[in-house]
Amino acid sequence: MHREDIPMLNNDLIYFDNGATTLKPKFVIDSIVDYYSNYCANAHRGDYKISLKVDKVYDEVRDKIRNFINAKDKSEIVFTSGTTDAINKVVFGYFKYHLKKDDEVLITESEHASNVLPWFILQKELGIKVKYIPLNNDYEVDIDNVKKMINSKTKVISLAYITNVIGDIRPIREICDLAHMNDILVVVDGAQSLSHIKTDVQLDDIDFLAASAHKMYGPTGIGFLYGKFNLLNDMVPLEYGGDMNAMFTSDGYVELREVPIKFEAGTQNIAGIIGMGACIDYISSIGLNKILTHEHKLKEYLVKRLEELDNIEIYNKNTVGSIVAFNVKDVFSQDTAIYLDKYNICIRAGNHCAKMIGNVFNVNNTCRISLGFYNTKEEIDKLIDVLKDIDNIYNIII
Ligand code: PMP
Repeated sequence: MHREDIPMLNNDLIYFDNGATTLKPKFVIDSIVDYYSNYCANAHRGDYKISLKVDKVYDEVRDKIRNFINAKDKSEIVFTSGTTDAINKVVFGYFKYHLKKDDEVLITESEHASNVLPWFILQKELGIKVKYIPLNNDYEVDIDNVKKMINSKTKVISLAYITNVIGDIRPIREICDLAHMNDILVVVDGAQSLSHIKTDVQLDDIDFLAASAHKMYGPTGIGFLYGKFNLLNDMVPLEYGGDMNAMFTSDGYVELREVPIKFEAGTQNIAGIIGMGACIDYISSIGLNKILTHEHKLKEYLVKRLEELDNIEIYNKNTVGSIVAFNVKDVFSQDTAIYLDKYNICIRAGNHCAKMIGNVFNVNNTCRISLGFYNTKEEIDKLIDVLKDIDNIYNIII
């Protein structure tokens, strides 16, 4: 649906790598071109009309995000360069000062590197312990397994809402309930979820949420961090410079501005912020429910069609997300991706920045199809036709 909105779909491209980044609607591209063509000024610095317009739009985007995730106040939204930046800000700006030796942080072995490596650094620096919630037979997080891992030392649970490896959707609301009963804070990596399912940070009672616009049909290099106000107020900025300070004097005295501006040092990615506002408008105009329903139907169809082939192993038949992880038997995943590219079909192959998943999956590399709202059954049929021809794979690639 809405394929006509996406300039890159004007040729015969079949794009199945929406988990890596999504294609961009013209509406989003136009919003960025409009900024650079018509009101390209800095934010929070000028007293002239175009600069004041930037200030207004900048502020409106913060409010659009607030509304999109139902945060209480727009001051709880910090612009970041993406999910990685947001999680690093939380780990090194908040938890570094609130955790101590032997405190425990729960993650899983299917987390993305950006939700693993910062915790490893704290493990080294502070002596905290990173522990792994076991995954069930479908590689998903069961609330019972979370319960079993919690003890008096557990202080943080940090999980992707939807993983980028198999696309499973975590029971975040239940996890937050359980966590808060035990005085544990919850960090949610929303990189893969915000363009598929509605997130309500108040209903779910999420403490921190990280996101990237480029996975939401928006521009690269921009995203946001949501944090409950009291937590953000207690968080330390990692960068110092213009805009985030209220005043400083030659004797080293510095007064910082309020949350969230104190976390946005220097000139921000204004074009990106405007594009992020546009992508939120765009997604909202289609409706997340409609997107999810479409993607679920497509996923079911994709699994059914892949199952018709006897040379395919599917790893996540039972998960409900928009991702299918598979391999062509006896073919290295990268070879399959290169083969499909000959037919202009883009898929992802590898370990998807979740390098520990091999510990649970028993394979280190998979092919991944991650669906978006513009994918179609016809595209899936073309994929199946190409995959059917197993001899062709051997002739062309191997
Ligand atoms: N978490 C997950 C689950 C992801 O899929 C990704 C991107 N692949 C990230 C975090 C990191 O996002 P970004 O590169 O936009 O910072």
